[in-house]
Amino acid sequence: MGLSNFHTHTTYCDGKHSPEEMVLSAIENKMTAIGFSVHSYTSRDLSYCIKKDKIADYIKEINALKEKYKDKINIYCGTELDVFSDMDLDGFEYFLSAVHYIEKDGKLLTVDGSAKEQLSDTDKYFDGDILSYCEAYYETVKKIADFKNAGFIAHFDLVTKFNENGELFDEKHPRYVKAWQDAALHLIKMGIPFEINTGAISRGARVTPYPRREIADFIVENGGKFILTSDCHHKDMLLCAFDKVKEIYKGIEILDFEDFVK
Ligand SMILES: [Zn+2]
Ligand SMILES: [Zn+2]
Repeated sequence: MGLSNFHTHTTYCDGKHSPEEMVLSAIENKMTAIGFSVHSYTSRDLSYCIKKDKIADYIKEINALKEKYKDKINIYCGTELDVFSDMDLDGFEYFLSAVHYIEKDGKLLTVDGSAKEQLSDTDKYFDGDILSYCEAYYETVKKIADFKNAGFIAHFDLVTKFNENGELFDEKHPRYVKAWQDAALHLIKMGIPFEINTGAISRGARVTPYPRREIADFIVENGGKFILTSDCHHKDMLLCAFDKVKEIYKGIEILDFEDFVK
């Protein structure tokens, strides 16, 4: 299996570099494949997704690069599809399924904004009970199974982004464990791999990837599979912490993404 990464963002959404800059960096890093997974258009929050009038340009540009660099690297045109997205899905070759929000009282609450935001939303919408907030997150994650175009399950435990050392809540609490286990069992049935995602490491939010080892073990024990990505927003982070992943998830088989999209 060659080096590859299928969770990457460019200037079409909240990434720092153009698709071509990312491709050149991938070739320099001796990668055999790269997939682009622009944040899907979500009309209820335009802050970091692709603009509606740029979708056609994006697909066209990725396909042009695919042709231009076909002797050097395999390129795939995908999208990171949020549960709350309302985008036409024609023209995409693959999908990452993701949850970035909880919906409460008709509002979308951002899960991966900041610890401060998680806490204030918990106070405002969940009576200060952060475990209720987490339960609402995993209930939303279960909705991935309803996607017509469900793809690889992105950053399964994103709700822990600011909780690496238990700063906000106890990840061993039975209510928290039940919430993620229910969601994991619900999604494993789909037979689609989950991501090991090193994205929060490259952005300095964490030192370990998603999902935590205990969750990864549970997923494997129950028949789930994994692929590896870096949720890359910068051309120098395409392979961020991939070496570390081998140690952290020792014994867990990581599948080749290309086996699923070719
Ligand atoms: Zn994401
Ligand atoms: Zn992403």
